[in-house]
Amino acid sequence: MIKALLSHQCGLKLFCVEGVSQDDDDSPYGALVEQMIAVFAAFYSHNLSSDTRRAKHARALRGEFNGSVPPLGYILVTWAQATPERPAGLHVDPEIAPIVVEAFERYATGAHSDRTIAEWLNEQPAIRHFCESGKPIGKEMVRDLLQNQTYTGRVGYSETVYAGASLGQRRKSRRNHIERCEGRYEAIISDELFWACQAVRERLACTHKTTSQSHTYILPDRVFCGHCIARGDGNLADPNYGKMRIQWQDTKNAAIYRCIARDRGYGDCEQGIVYEERVLDMVVEMISRLNVPGDARERIDALVRSRPSNQQVLEQLAELEEQQRRVQFSWEHGRLLPEEYLARTSQLEREIASMRPLDYDRLEEAADLITHFRSYWKQCAEVDNPEEARQQHRRPGVCIR
Ligand SMILES: [Zn+2]
Repeated sequence: MIKALLSHQCGLKLFCVEGVSQDDDDSPYGALVEQMIAVFAAFYSHNLSSDTRRAKHARALRGEFNGSVPPLGYILVTWAQATPERPAGLHVDPEIAPIVVEAFERYATGAHSDRTIAEWLNEQPAIRHFCESGKPIGKEMVRDLLQNQTYTGRVGYSETVYAGASLGQRRKSRRNHIERCEGRYEAIISDELFWACQAVRERLACTHKTTSQSHTYILPDRVFCGHCIARGDGNLADPNYGKMRIQWQDTKNAAIYRCIARDRGYGDCEQGIVYEERVLDMVVEMISRLNVPGDARERIDALVRSRPSNQQVLEQLAELEEQQRRVQFSWEHGRLLPEEYLARTSQLEREIASMRPLDYDRLEEAADLITHFRSYWKQCAEVDNPEEARQQHRRPGVCIR
């Protein structure tokens, strides 16, 4: 069915490298062979996926690790690297494993957060050596590490479940349907320590929820730290590098931006905290200084007319305008009654208004917004529900120096 759709809508043809297709040879034989090849290919793909799934499940039942990247603190020996003394599977990394154990122990005291653990980890020489070629350890990685049950000597197995009905769609979280099996490798974290850490996490999450209050921020994830972007030893390939995170501070009763370079293991940054108000003032100031050129209307007109997608509508519009001129001409030469003239002109006006390309409205709205930005901004602050009005603002990113 997909093939019929593609060949009908896009004019695609199907040719077979091995065998023949209907497009190769338009005969009953070609059609038959193409269908047979398609059935065998579908069977092969289905069979391969169920075989892979079965093999992975069997590996988990035997206690073998299924991933290709070992958890921090373990070394993965593949079948190709295995020797009689060192069989394939997970092996404790004698240098890093004690550090991982200490990270769990520190977290279990309840005095640390994922961020402080990440900072501590990045200070350890063995970890620094380990991360030399990649990114430093961030708090997200610590969060996953401290919840990874593989450390207690159990391998996990879960089937990939897709959110939609077919393959290629978004995967669902595997968290709630993992089957745990006893692993054939050494555990480095005891069950007591692991569950103590989970209890600490749950407690921290609860206290966090009760104190936090919902605030709408206009530029979340759009503010970058100028110091970090400008410094030479940064990592511009990391999309989150140099980002400033906004958070509400009850003590100051204000939202503040803070550079997250330190949290993500990029070392200290000289940027102090920046109040959201100051960022917004700067952005409003910048946008208010933008000038819409005097010939904006002509430029908008030229732009809309140059778009191929608007051509058909513009031709119809030109025809309606021509009709308008003819009605006007007839009226001026006394060939129409007043009510006829009124009915026809108002109908044409309505048609013209409904046909006008949307681009005109969008561009004119944007030009109007830039011209009167400051007064709109003030009006938003004066409405009954400023929180809701803030949600209407969505502007481009800024860089704070
Ligand atoms: Zn910074």
